[in-house]
Amino acid sequence: MGLFGEHCVRCGKKTREETPEGLPTCEECQLQLQAEREEKRTCPLDGSVMSKEIVQNIIIDRCPSCGGVWLDSGELELVKKAMEESAGSDLATAMVLGMMR
Ligand SMILES: [Zn+2]
Ligand SMILES: [Zn+2]
Repeated sequence: MGLFGEHCVRCGKKTREETPEGLPTCEECQLQLQAEREEKRTCPLDGSVMSKEIVQNIIIDRCPSCGGVWLDSGELELVKKAMEESAGSDLATAMVLGMMR
């Protein structure tokens, strides 16, 4: 197990994180892996399979046809927190504005 200077096996970025299997993998790529493992959701409005997106380190489901966003319980709080921490973050702001439409 390396301590410093490991490089993410997926994106090559320097990281000290690793998967439970012991592969050096940065936080973003671990989230990506987690998103891929999560069950796909279908849009409650039009039944399209929603795609996983990572915003502010939170995995969200977004419908490709109507643009609707699904958050798991607790994720809205994470989004709010992320917004408070990075006031003016365009992504988080756009996301929450989109949800309130
Ligand atoms: Zn990576
Ligand atoms: Zn939809």
